[in-house]
Amino acid sequence: MYDYLIVGAGLFGAVFAHEMAARGKRCLVIDRRNHIAGNIYTKEVEGIQVHEYGAHIFHTSDREVWEYVNRFAEFNNYVNSPVAVYGDELYNLPFNMNTFSKMWGIRTPAEAQRIIAEQIADLGIGEPRNLEEQALKLVGRDVYEKLIKGYTEKQWGRPCHELPAFIIKRLPLRFRYDNNYFNDRYQGIPMGGYTAIAEKLLAGADVRLGVDYAELIAKEPEIAKKTVYTGQIDEFFGYCFGALEYRSVRFETEALDCENYQGNAVVNYTAADVPYTRIIEHKHFEFGTQPKTVISREYSAEWSVGAEPYYPVNNEKNNALYERYRERAKTRPDVIFGGRLGLYRYFDMDKVIRAALDAAGAEIG
Ligand code: UDP
Repeated sequence: MYDYLIVGAGLFGAVFAHEMAARGKRCLVIDRRNHIAGNIYTKEVEGIQVHEYGAHIFHTSDREVWEYVNRFAEFNNYVNSPVAVYGDELYNLPFNMNTFSKMWGIRTPAEAQRIIAEQIADLGIGEPRNLEEQALKLVGRDVYEKLIKGYTEKQWGRPCHELPAFIIKRLPLRFRYDNNYFNDRYQGIPMGGYTAIAEKLLAGADVRLGVDYAELIAKEPEIAKKTVYTGQIDEFFGYCFGALEYRSVRFETEALDCENYQGNAVVNYTAADVPYTRIIEHKHFEFGTQPKTVISREYSAEWSVGAEPYYPVNNEKNNALYERYRERAKTRPDVIFGGRLGLYRYFDMDKVIRAALDAAGAEIG
């Protein structure tokens, strides 16, 4: 019998397992997939660390979390500065003076602010009620139309006025010439990939791959005293209140016989008529100099059973449904829910680590 059955070998499960194993607890980690590391999984192809489930760039302002991950990997000094392509126009992201200067042929913050104010003067937006109003209020009509609307509607499969405002507030808005996509104090990519971090975190636990939770628990109901569940909370409860919505992503990955395909790790395609949202060129996360390159086109899709869930769709309807599952979870004090799917939150990696450390801390008391 184990102290903890940890369902999901992703970041939440791995950090929790590490913390508990370090305190002498017996942990069994299972995963449906045949590899560890969940969606941060990276795999070496042509000497390049490929982010198999989408680009993961570590960034945080939480010093403890930064010091924690640095115990398991050395991070390089990569700074994310995506480029956005709209038709034959090219802009820097996030929205900053480089973007505005290119968009309007201006130079000063005052000019940019004046143009934005003019573009939204007649809209009368008060407290933004949705992503569209939030975006217009922040950056005006031109930037919204060219760099936000098409990308967001492809990414989420819903009109911007039906999406929550917080999603667009993930991106910094600056009236300085600064293309750093994040405002966080610390940022980088783990040299050697993310899978190696998960391996180290899981070193003190038993790991069984290709194992389905429901099947295991049917066979061995007494396998552990407590369960940590990082899968979909609605699935755990048999979708008893109905299914939560998620977005999935399909990747078209190819190795190309060229050294440098797009000159940047992340290029977003913000027009609605391009079917993918972005192209990732993995080698640039590690300043790679290999003779070949590997690129991934990302196609966003609504999640359905059998696909991989990536993003919770945190609109009012789903949040209300999630609250019902959360209430239901209180009837299962033997289960700790964690991660993006267990907590139905659009967590970044640092927040996942923080939540896992807190959950482990609460267990120890
Ligand atoms: N976004 C956008 N245009 C872009 C990039 C992002 O409108 O070129 C919006 C879009 O709504 C997206 C959100 O900003 O869902 C958050 O972007 P982020 O890069 O944080 O998304 P992730 O990398 O988590 O998919």
